[in-house]
Amino acid sequence: MKKNLGHPVFKILANIAAETQTEAYVIGGYVRDIFLSRPSKDIDVVILGNGIEFAELAGKQLKSKVAVFKNFGTAMLRFQDLEIEFVGARKESYRADSRKPIVENGTIEDDQLRRDFTINALAISLNKDTYGDLVNPFNGVEDLNNRLIRTPLDPEVTFSDDPLRMMRAIRFATQLNFNIDKAALAAISKQKDRIKIVSKERITDELNKIILSPVPSIGFKHLFDTGLLHLIFPQMANLYGVEIINGKGHKDNFYHTLQVLDNICEVTGDLWLRWAAILHDIAKPPTKRFEENHGWTFHGHEDKGARMVPQIFTQLKLPLNEKMKFVQKLVQLHLRPIVLAQEIVTDSAVRRLLFDAGEDIESLMLLCNADVTTKNEYKVKKYRNNFELVKQKLKDVEERDKIRNWQPPVSGNDIMEVFGISAGKEVGMIKNAIREAILEGEITNDHDQALAFMLMKGKEFGLIPVAEQSR
Ligand code: ATP
Repeated sequence: MKKNLGHPVFKILANIAAETQTEAYVIGGYVRDIFLSRPSKDIDVVILGNGIEFAELAGKQLKSKVAVFKNFGTAMLRFQDLEIEFVGARKESYRADSRKPIVENGTIEDDQLRRDFTINALAISLNKDTYGDLVNPFNGVEDLNNRLIRTPLDPEVTFSDDPLRMMRAIRFATQLNFNIDKAALAAISKQKDRIKIVSKERITDELNKIILSPVPSIGFKHLFDTGLLHLIFPQMANLYGVEIINGKGHKDNFYHTLQVLDNICEVTGDLWLRWAAILHDIAKPPTKRFEENHGWTFHGHEDKGARMVPQIFTQLKLPLNEKMKFVQKLVQLHLRPIVLAQEIVTDSAVRRLLFDAGEDIESLMLLCNADVTTKNEYKVKKYRNNFELVKQKLKDVEERDKIRNWQPPVSGNDIMEVFGISAGKEVGMIKNAIREAILEGEITNDHDQALAFMLMKGKEFGLIPVAEQSR
């Protein structure tokens, strides 16, 4: 089969191959993505010989700087919007305690054999007589057509050699909505403990790619079914299962969480909002109780869940920065709009929600909407209607009171100046009282009303304004 490589850069590389009498092939993801009609900018070129020398010749012709990675025997250059990596064909063998292979020079087939999946092991010739010919020794094209992730070697060997490939198999299956070959799935279950030799960062990289896929539940179900999830993210695996006491069960929080995650993915591509969906009920297992009168309860799971977020982010080597704070805040607040939607919606409750959620109110509303997973049409309709009501109220209240980017209308300095006092607990108490009065709707959020309220409150605390002290 011949494949059209399209871009003129391939002819230039083919000329270098002809002039230097070296064999060269385009390989891996770029070739796979031609078949999937997914335009890609990353090109891997395998040279039967010295990849670095070839790259340097290419760099001269293309007038591009070449970055050489001597330790890896690879070199990379950028040309227009492409990133082209050159490497000598390799044969690899592995030891039990490391993902790092022992590397020797090899044939093109050796190099294809060391690739993780048949769909990633396709190559296209850049050689004079065979230019554009597909090299497909492991039926990668058939697997692409059958939407199948399969390993070129015995999967047990592939996964044991480099256990990161277990995560990659599940990641590709999720990104492409492919099935994983039965033998490969069984091999992942069998080799799962080998994941321990893979760095946390690499595991989380793959996990994030799964989470950023259109339907991430596909990947999480594989992770759970193979037992990998229990090893890499046990708190999430712990959500699985239904307990029944006195004939009363609760919903399975693992599948519920996956539904919420898939739901939110329909409305946002934001990785951190997706993480908030994954973690919103993470503390349900440790807060679960059966109460005679109420059945199953999960009191305080939002508080405990928010407290678990930094520990989970640390464990998964996710960033401990404002992204984590955002996830934590959403986990903490995820019940609030629902509670509002079930009750009569008062202005003060809406103002409090706006105050607590601030800039993240829209994200919180998206999470809560995604959290409605009941199959009961009547309930769904009722919740969604109430949400619309809450949203409208949020808009009205925000227009009037500007709570979202809360700035105290009277500052601590104002308070100290007016009463001639220095920083101390009275200042904080008066500030809190002003904020409470605004949130409760006793006064509006403006300077004059807040100042008048401050004078009254100050006097209650026994403070006399400076202006009145000399009298
Ligand atoms: P993506 O860009 O979506 O991650 P890709 O297939 O281009 O997809 P890379 O990680 O850039 O992924 O890898 C490039 C190629 O290198 C792959 O197509 C595959 O042939 C090979 N490869 C990458 N990682 C491994 C691995 N752990 N084991 C075996 N082969 C691998």
